[in-house]
Amino acid sequence: MDNPMATPAQARVDLAAIRHNVALLKERAGGAELMAAVKADAYGHGLVPSSRAMLAGGAAMLGTAFVSEALELRAAGITAPVLSWLITPGEPLDEALQAGVELSASDEPLLDEIAAAARRTGRAARTHLEADTGMSRGGSPLAAWPGLLRRALELQAEGAVEIAGLWSHLACADIPGHPAIDAQLESYETALKLAEQAGAAGSHVIRHLANSAATMTLPRAHYDLVRCGIATYGLSPIPEQGDFGLRQAMTLVARIAMTKRVPEGSGVSYGHLYVTDRETTLALVPLGYADGILRHATGKAEVLAGGRRRLVAGRVCMDQFVIDMGDDPLLAGEEVILFGPGAQGEPTAQEWADNLGTITHEIVTRIGSRVPRVYEGWGP
Ligand SMILES: *Cc1c(COP(=O)(O)O)cnc(C)c1O
Repeated sequence: MDNPMATPAQARVDLAAIRHNVALLKERAGGAELMAAVKADAYGHGLVPSSRAMLAGGAAMLGTAFVSEALELRAAGITAPVLSWLITPGEPLDEALQAGVELSASDEPLLDEIAAAARRTGRAARTHLEADTGMSRGGSPLAAWPGLLRRALELQAEGAVEIAGLWSHLACADIPGHPAIDAQLESYETALKLAEQAGAAGSHVIRHLANSAATMTLPRAHYDLVRCGIATYGLSPIPEQGDFGLRQAMTLVARIAMTKRVPEGSGVSYGHLYVTDRETTLALVPLGYADGILRHATGKAEVLAGGRRRLVAGRVCMDQFVIDMGDDPLLAGEEVILFGPGAQGEPTAQEWADNLGTITHEIVTRIGSRVPRVYEGWGP
């Protein structure tokens, strides 16, 4: 058995693949710097080891949704610039400023909260102002943008805030040719022009707009910094356009808990959605929906077991599911691969996403905390 740690399942993360992907994205980004999006436990890959690999691969900055995620990076001793962009009123921002975490603001009330924390801590808050250029998620509507700029400049004059970035997010960069792309680029240009006119767009202010898809396909969106998530983990931001030379970092494996022969006509798992059509060998895989194997994978997703693909047979349960081996041998303790880069014939994360009608982001971020992340490829 090639698994030294006899856990029921593991998510193996190839850090060399992450470094390769970051380097490849940096090349695609031309002269722009790269921020690695490591929110949601680095898309399920493990926050701290993945972040270190991102930095080793050439990322200049890390990005998280929540402040708590940025503080976890600091607690691990990571000193690289970090931006958090999803802040809810009343969060303890003092700690963020003391830890040197850069903060995003989309409206004046949050900007005032950030400034108050800066006054309390005596630390000027490096702040990235977010414009809503057409995604209608976070960000300041352009109508409110001049007011936000004015307030930020006042707070900057006072020494509480330092305008560090001007940014926005694209809604349709993964749909090449979508009319919203040009509309958002134009709107972002307008936001930048307003900032220039207000005196808030000095040469040290970082302009950033692109996600992974835009980094790969929209040079006009690169500006000073690109924010890449999914592609750094080796998952294609635009699956219809192939893998862009990215290497999938995560391989999800499980060790068979038990096998048994059952007669023809055996109903398998809850609801008996699968019934054996002959005498056969069933094998029990110790991963379930609590571990991120969507219940919806019932009868849809495949795993590589005993050298061949096998469908999930019957309902995925909370902790386990069953595969039907027919007459092929498989022993308890042997390893099966749910998904990986595909080199051994296993399904890729993209195949899982396609079979389940979702995106790879959801496949990898849902892998639960019960599944240990095991790291490979630490070396240079
Ligand atoms: C998650 C996220 C990204 C990264 O997006 P990918 O499509 O995974 O590259 C970039 N910017 C923001 C604001 C995000 O929330």
